[in-house]
Amino acid sequence: MKQAQRLKSVRYDIRGPVLRRAQELEAAGHRILKLNLGNPAPWGMNTPDPIMADVVQNLGAAQGYSDARGIYSARVAVAQYYQSRGVTEVQPDDVMLGNGVSELIVMTMQALLDTGDEVLVPSPDYPLWTGAVTLCGGRPVHYRCDESQGWLPDLEHMAAQITPNTRAMVIINPNNPTGAVYSREVLLGMLELARRHGLMVLADEIYDKIIFDGAVHHTAAALAPDVPVISMGGLSKTYRAAGFRSGWLAMSGFTARDTEYVDGLQLLANMRLCPNVPAQHAVQTALGGYQSIERLIEPGGRLYEQRTHAWRKITAIPGVDCVRPDGALYLFARLDPAVHKIRDDEQLIIDLLEQQHLLLSHGTGFNLDTPDHIRMVFLAPTDVLDDAVGRLGAFLSTYHQ
Ligand code: PLP
Repeated sequence: MKQAQRLKSVRYDIRGPVLRRAQELEAAGHRILKLNLGNPAPWGMNTPDPIMADVVQNLGAAQGYSDARGIYSARVAVAQYYQSRGVTEVQPDDVMLGNGVSELIVMTMQALLDTGDEVLVPSPDYPLWTGAVTLCGGRPVHYRCDESQGWLPDLEHMAAQITPNTRAMVIINPNNPTGAVYSREVLLGMLELARRHGLMVLADEIYDKIIFDGAVHHTAAALAPDVPVISMGGLSKTYRAAGFRSGWLAMSGFTARDTEYVDGLQLLANMRLCPNVPAQHAVQTALGGYQSIERLIEPGGRLYEQRTHAWRKITAIPGVDCVRPDGALYLFARLDPAVHKIRDDEQLIIDLLEQQHLLLSHGTGFNLDTPDHIRMVFLAPTDVLDDAVGRLGAFLSTYHQ
């Protein structure tokens, strides 16, 4: 059977050939150490009990379809969450729930793009953004995030990418894969570009509470009430419930001019009937209380210690450096081209997998344009991270392409 032509240019390499090879090795009986996914629960970072209890208690009430935008209590909770973060105008009717942020990323792009429309996407990015823009007929235009500046977006480069076809700007903060948490000044600069060029802003803030060392997360929408911003978050990371497939978006700064777009989004929501209903019952509890993420990210907490430990270890490998992540769940390490001379980083990841049974992700899979980065998830306990970094160091010490 043929494949739809429009899929031919859609890339989602981090789950492509590398993952297939890992599955083959597993099927052949090998145990693979997988540090390629930001999936907390399998590493013992479980969904908090009150969230689980809410879903269980509400299963009976969750048998039918819900409102296409999501149940009211969840939409109120999301609206209040953003209000508390300074997006004061957001109301429950501005909120829509989805089957994870992933579904909402695709829907927001489907509702916006015509063939040839351009969207500014960071490089490196969480690659679903680039993939979704392409899938919807748009053209992803990557703006550079500067490793020498802690991976902050390069505003000059960004401004130079804007054309009459540019419709929107994607901000991923805290960033996957780099772990950068953007300063207020940089965000204001990005939002000013959006304001000046009439762009919609898509603020993927799914890691907004996973921040270290006193870094501060600024909610983009709160800094620009006059700019149309779609803020996105979900249960997968902070609330360790990735399998629930629950996320949300909140629209702010929209005016009567934008009604057509909002109607389009509503149409798409209606067409998929509603998001997974049991998981929606977790949202109010998740957003309303203390969900112990705070304990994980402070010094002495599991995530903090694992991040710090893994970063120290990986940067001790000769020819490897890494900007220390201020947020999210990943180390995005650089293999110094003067030492490692990698031409094909996907092949490197496959060779690492075959030789050391360790699964990481390659930088070009995140739309970085040079094959000299790898991403490692630091959700595993420190002894497992030690084992992984040991395997990586041993592999790199003899690897040539
Ligand atoms: N956005 C970013 C930046 C992510 O890293 C991820 C998952 O890794 C997602 C969105 C998708 O999250 P969800 O599980 O809510 O679909």
